[in-house]
Amino acid sequence: VSEFNLINHYFKQLTASKADVILGIGDDCAITRVPDARLLATSIDTLISGVHFPHGTSAEDIGYKALAVNLSDLAAMGAQPAWVSLALTMPDENAQWLQGFCRGFAQLAQQYNVQLIGGDTTRGDLSISVQIYGFVEPQKFLRRDRAQLGELIYVSGYLGDAGLGLACALNKLASTSALQSCIQQLNRPLPRVELGQSLIDISACAIDISDGLAADLQHILDASQCAALIELDALPLSAELKAHYAERVDWQQVLTSGDDYELCFTIDAAEENKLIAIAAQLKLKLTKIGVIKQGVGIEFMHLNGAEFTLTTAGYNHF
Ligand code: ADP
Ligand code: MG
Repeated sequence: VSEFNLINHYFKQLTASKADVILGIGDDCAITRVPDARLLATSIDTLISGVHFPHGTSAEDIGYKALAVNLSDLAAMGAQPAWVSLALTMPDENAQWLQGFCRGFAQLAQQYNVQLIGGDTTRGDLSISVQIYGFVEPQKFLRRDRAQLGELIYVSGYLGDAGLGLACALNKLASTSALQSCIQQLNRPLPRVELGQSLIDISACAIDISDGLAADLQHILDASQCAALIELDALPLSAELKAHYAERVDWQQVLTSGDDYELCFTIDAAEENKLIAIAAQLKLKLTKIGVIKQGVGIEFMHLNGAEFTLTTAGYNHF
């Protein structure tokens, strides 16, 4: 099968056509229209087998996750998703694998109405690069360098589940039925696109948590030149994670394991009521975990005042 048959067969009709795509797959470039008075947000992420997902991950989960992690980057900017391109390198043309991959990819593409507008297909060790495009309104997007002293720090969802899921997937933990939801969280993260877009009216600062809260919050602090006080006992932990750790939560693991794909953001306390309304509307758990302070670094504090010191930072993919 030639490269062109493969592209036509699997990718040309994979996603629905959008009116703002003048030329999609099939020419040397895609030609698209950015709406008047909006700005283009772009991001690219590469997934490598054994680095970004365990070797045994199903094709469908890989296809889903390749798009999910990119949608998460758009979410962190408060952007509206528009289009994607896909650079796929794989060892051979395995029809079953490709069908699974396309199923997972198409599921999220349909959910967020993103059109696949181009890409590249080559032979080699499995590697998937997805470039995503979205729109923001000028002056109304979320950035890492906009945290202000005194602002409250919030996170969406729960932290640490994907890390437990990864430990199961790597057979470092027995994958009990109680931990299935953690494996699901690892393979099928829910990009917080709606949340990001809702936040633009009440927040200026956000990041998506891909490498653990400690490392990703630190990116906000570095860019905004401030510090944070985090209340460890306020961190949102799932029932599954709490049951797994019983009375002794591994905070190191919760703070540094990757793949959560939740948003961490800051708001002025005056906006808290609006945030509560957003949480209710999106049916999404949003948790206040701390406050922005003067200084450098993150101070982790228990309710009883005891301090917690991290021994390692987040997951480093390089
Ligand atoms: P060129 O040689 O001009 O770069 P290609 O032969 O690589 O073009 O690709 C032909 C067309 O198919 C292009 O429009 C390209 O964007 C698209 N394409 C190639 N691979 C993929 C893919 N994996 N997913 C989506 N579109 C693809
Ligand atoms: Mg060309």
